Amino acid sequence: MAEGAVAELAVIGAGVGGCALAAQLRRLGWSGSVHLLEAGRGPGGRAATRRSRRDAGLHINHGAPLFNCTGSTPPALLQPLREGGWLEPWSGTICCLDGEGRIGSAIGDGFSDGSLYRGHGGMEQLCCGLLQIATEATLHSGALVRQLQPLPGGGWRLLGNNDELLLECHWLVLSGTLLAHPRGPALFGWPEVPLQAAAAQASDPQLQRACAALAAIDSQASSNLLLTLPAESAGPWRAQPFQLLQCNPAAQARWGLRRVSIQPLEDGRCAVVAESSTSFAAEAQGIYGSRSSAAQLLGAHANPQAEDAAMDTLEQALQAALGLPTAGADRQLMRWGAAFPQPPGLPPELSLCAASQIGFCGDAIAGPGFGRVEGALRSAEALAGQLLLHLGSELS
Ligand SMILES: Cc1cc2nc3c(=O)[nH]c(=O)nc-3n(C[C@H](O)[C@H](O)[C@H](O)COP(=O)(O)OP(=O)(O)OC[C@H]3O[C@@H](n4cnc5c(N)ncnc54)[C@H](O)[C@@H]3O)c2cc1C
Repeated sequence: MAEGAVAELAVIGAGVGGCALAAQLRRLGWSGSVHLLEAGRGPGGRAATRRSRRDAGLHINHGAPLFNCTGSTPPALLQPLREGGWLEPWSGTICCLDGEGRIGSAIGDGFSDGSLYRGHGGMEQLCCGLLQIATEATLHSGALVRQLQPLPGGGWRLLGNNDELLLECHWLVLSGTLLAHPRGPALFGWPEVPLQAAAAQASDPQLQRACAALAAIDSQASSNLLLTLPAESAGPWRAQPFQLLQCNPAAQARWGLRRVSIQPLEDGRCAVVAESSTSFAAEAQGIYGSRSSAAQLLGAHANPQAEDAAMDTLEQALQAALGLPTAGADRQLMRWGAAFPQPPGLPPELSLCAASQIGFCGDAIAGPGFGRVEGALRSAEALAGQLLLHLGSELS
């Protein structure tokens, strides 16, 4: 962006919510400048795909491996995403493991009912497609926003981790909760919750209420073991009659696993993602994968020994529960500190604080699909409709 220029809209986060907001604004005919600032290496957030520069054939959906839509009317963005070839129906089989090690039919876990979809070629394709629909949206990857400053005449100044100016904008949307929740200060030693510090200067009662509701959102964590099995030991995994294995409460209690996703790779290898149970993740609090964005971008302390021990436990649990080999597997730990927001979330009537020119979208907004990809899409579509009225009147 040219020095001194002010973006019409800045969106913090290029996960499903942030990318969907930019896409839907374009579909509604808005042509102003939109900049997405993303702390991670690329778009996707919790629906990202891990790739490797050194290993072109490797791709692992390390957050959501698929998503479901349950409402009677699907999110409006599904159709252009499907037409553009970014999305496809998920046609695998889902089974459920019980506490005795028996594998049976799928159970209702909130993530498996309705219509199932996945990104074509990897879950990150969902966000790539949304960014394509959001023509001329500018994505700034590796851009952690650390401070929000309201500007005297309206609008916002965004600062990075070293107090450097990242961007100034008329309107701001937060699509993740990191800047609004006490876990930011707890994790990274920040002296304040950035949004609360900004709201204290803005003196807007609606924003104060939104701040309080966002700060109160509890989330469950997930510590995921990512395995890449060489072709020699991938066979039994690839031959399983399911691609997604839920663990019922007894199985979760016994093995510390919540769900296992089998992701065959084109070259004969197989990626396996073992998602931990909530209680395992709570015990493993503070153990971040050394390659997680919390460790790499935000400076969370990495502890290789604790990380190895957590991976050993999850790998042994996987072997014990399924009796399948993991010999020779490359393994990584991925901890999602706030994997699953818990209800009630942010009331939708607080998702646009027009007096402060700030809005909120993402899966933490209360409503259909809350805590899932569907909710991130729907909240962004709803916010785009509301925002359009203001963007149009202020900027045309
Ligand atoms: C292990 C796991 C399994 C899941 N399984 C499913 C499933 O089966 N089905 C389903 O529907 N959903 C599933 N989900 C949930 C789903 O992934 C989320 O609901 C959805 O991806 C949320 O999108 P979002 O845009 O709201 O948030 P996010 O994806 O979290 O996006 C927020 C983005 O903002 C960025 N960000 C945050 N703060 C800052 C900052 N200060 N500066 C710059 N960038 C910032 C983050 O890096 C992130 O990319 C799963 C999640 C996890 C973790």
